[in-house]
Amino acid sequence: MPSSTSQGVVFTKEFTRQEPIPEEGIRRAVALMESGRLHRYNVAQGETSEVALLEKEFAEYIGTRYCAALSSCGSALYVALKCAGVMAGDKVLCNAFTLAPVPGAIENAGAEVVLVGITPNYTVDLADLEEKMHQSGARFFLISHMRGHIADLERVAALCASHGVTLIEDCAHTMGGAWAGRPTGTYGVIGCFSTQTYKHMNSGEGGLLVTSDDDIAAKAILYSGSYMLYGGHLSRPPLEVFERHRLVIPNFSLRMSNVQAALLRPQLRRLDDSCRRWNERYAVLAEALAGVPHLALPARDPREKYVGSSFQFSLVGLDRRQAQWFIEECGRRGVEIKWFGWREPMGFTSTFRHWQYFAQTAQLAESEEILDWLCDFRVPLTFSLDDCRVLATVIGQVIGDIAVGAPLAG
Ligand SMILES: *Cc1c(COP(=O)(O)O)cnc(C)c1O
Repeated sequence: MPSSTSQGVVFTKEFTRQEPIPEEGIRRAVALMESGRLHRYNVAQGETSEVALLEKEFAEYIGTRYCAALSSCGSALYVALKCAGVMAGDKVLCNAFTLAPVPGAIENAGAEVVLVGITPNYTVDLADLEEKMHQSGARFFLISHMRGHIADLERVAALCASHGVTLIEDCAHTMGGAWAGRPTGTYGVIGCFSTQTYKHMNSGEGGLLVTSDDDIAAKAILYSGSYMLYGGHLSRPPLEVFERHRLVIPNFSLRMSNVQAALLRPQLRRLDDSCRRWNERYAVLAEALAGVPHLALPARDPREKYVGSSFQFSLVGLDRRQAQWFIEECGRRGVEIKWFGWREPMGFTSTFRHWQYFAQTAQLAESEEILDWLCDFRVPLTFSLDDCRVLATVIGQVIGDIAVGAPLAG
């Protein structure tokens, strides 16, 4: 519970604390452990594996024809690039605000990352996208809906179509989200989702790849490491589609296990309710922080159905010393803010300037400037609405301290 010190309000909840796995998922996982049938293809006669059921249910939830479960979203992105036909040396466009596993997946596929600039609302800059399409000749765009910020996907998809560019979506932070009434992951030919602990469903690690394309679905299942057991999938194209690919697609062994799927299935049933609860928290924070000086909240388009599982804002009118003090003072008062402006990568947080394994030739000064002032924190569902109010109070007080001269020189 919040407590007051002479320095002001302190926040005491943990930003890394997720809700427990639903009881039903725990019971099912324990039953699987008792049976020893943890591998997705280790099923008793007449039984369907937990992973196959999850894939069917997730495809139905998103509204695609197929889903393949993988070991992580990063591996789903890698498999997606391979399925889309990315070859070594190909160029792949990617928005400059993203998480390290995204350029990592492009590198893993032997391809070249071409960064595209972002807007002050943290989404891809469509003018720069079009320019980079012309300049680079890239035939693929891996769009990352980083921290749940969704660009105008109708325009993105139209730009891709008119330039012969294949669109793949990284939806790690938009599970449950949509643009103009259509779920993210359905604008691209492939959508990839994460079930890593800090995303919208938690199985520790895990990824879900969705598509409505027969050949891509068959290839994704084969790449995931299905051996010749793909017939047991419920969410798959007809067997003759596999005949075209089964001898030429390598097995990358990136499967999900039955225990992970057992933990996820009941979470999928409560997902819409979880998203509603995240957005209640987001609304409380947005209202409380909207009037705080030196903070700029991103404008959110009414067509964007976001999931507020994390919160971002930009610092304006401060110098770097004040910004760093702001982050550190919030931390001292229990509010863990991640800052994209650190010169060195910290924890999960890094930016493109830290990813020095690929050549960065693009002019991205404006994107760098945006990231330099970008702050971010998680909003786990273990925070109550009151916790969100306390958290916002701390941020407001620390900004207030800056207004009266903190940090003191010296
Ligand atoms: C977490 C995340 C990923 C990677 O997901 P993993 O399941 O951890 O591999 C990719 N993109 C974004 C935007 C993410 O937040």
